[in-house]
Amino acid sequence: MRAAFYQGARTFTTGDVATPTPGPGQALLRVKRVGICGTDLHIFQGHLDHRVPKGGIIGHETFGEVAEAPAGSGFTAGDRVVVEPLQLCGRCRACRMGASYLCYGLKVLGVDLPGGMQEYWAVDAARLLRVPDTLGDDHAALIEPLAVATHDVRRAAVKRDDAVLVFGGGPIGALIALVSRQRGARVVVVEVNRHRLEILKALGLETVGPDRDPVKFANEWTGGTGVDVAFEVSGHPAAARAVTDVVRVWGTVSIVAIHAEPVPVNLYQMFARELNMHGARLYAREDWEEAIRLAAGGIVPVAPLVSRTIPLEALQQGMEEALGGGPVMKVLVDLTV
Ligand SMILES: [Zn+2]
Ligand SMILES: [Zn+2]
Repeated sequence: MRAAFYQGARTFTTGDVATPTPGPGQALLRVKRVGICGTDLHIFQGHLDHRVPKGGIIGHETFGEVAEAPAGSGFTAGDRVVVEPLQLCGRCRACRMGASYLCYGLKVLGVDLPGGMQEYWAVDAARLLRVPDTLGDDHAALIEPLAVATHDVRRAAVKRDDAVLVFGGGPIGALIALVSRQRGARVVVVEVNRHRLEILKALGLETVGPDRDPVKFANEWTGGTGVDVAFEVSGHPAAARAVTDVVRVWGTVSIVAIHAEPVPVNLYQMFARELNMHGARLYAREDWEEAIRLAAGGIVPVAPLVSRTIPLEALQQGMEEALGGGPVMKVLVDLTV
């Protein structure tokens, strides 16, 4: 079978490898679609070389079909499934607290362990979730990022009529905005990429473009009081610097982006307005279940986020294009071609 291998910064190769044999409790998936995301771009640039082995197989936004399932798993051949790409210990403090997705020994499939960029993938059946037939293959690959968004919105306790400002209108920022809107919040997305601004507008989202100052905008929008919730999804230092300046007294700042380097944050506003700041990472099982419900029911429109699908052999080129900041939202790898 074919698989793509990470060979070090800026290099993916595609080659043949033996079809994996599922271990105890594992199902064998025929992989159909894998989304490329911001984490994968970090991997591509070599930022995660301490976690991704040379020759490793990436891909954590996976949709596929069960080829073989262990008896008693509740799955059978032909089931359409997505993969919760986490391996947890089940015993550490986080796992015992109910935060197993933040397990102290957490391994992410597609980062620390082999992921979905292979035609067949052996995965623990306990990590599979069934996808309804109403959801197309391309759109099923967006359930993973949508589960990130449902988690982030739940953690920030976004509610009806809240004013929500999202810094960064890539796939995750757009999905956070759509889920927040579905909760009845008023939402504005700050984004600089013209192509992404067009997609956000087509989704009916209000935007703040590169020609406007988000702090000034938030003040005008809220009569000087600040927004209820601000999400930092851009990973840009300027957004980290601005995010505490846009939130109301007792409001919430949610850090979703990966800031690999320390960046300046205005802690005076944290103090002066008694803000709540938290991180939001990955997802719990309930976030996946909600994501499947929202996507399959057409309650959150995921289709406009798919820019295009590429074959596995074009992974390297797809990464380079995504990194170039061009007219791209979500690129999917189609393993069936
Ligand atoms: Zn991702
Ligand atoms: Zn654990």
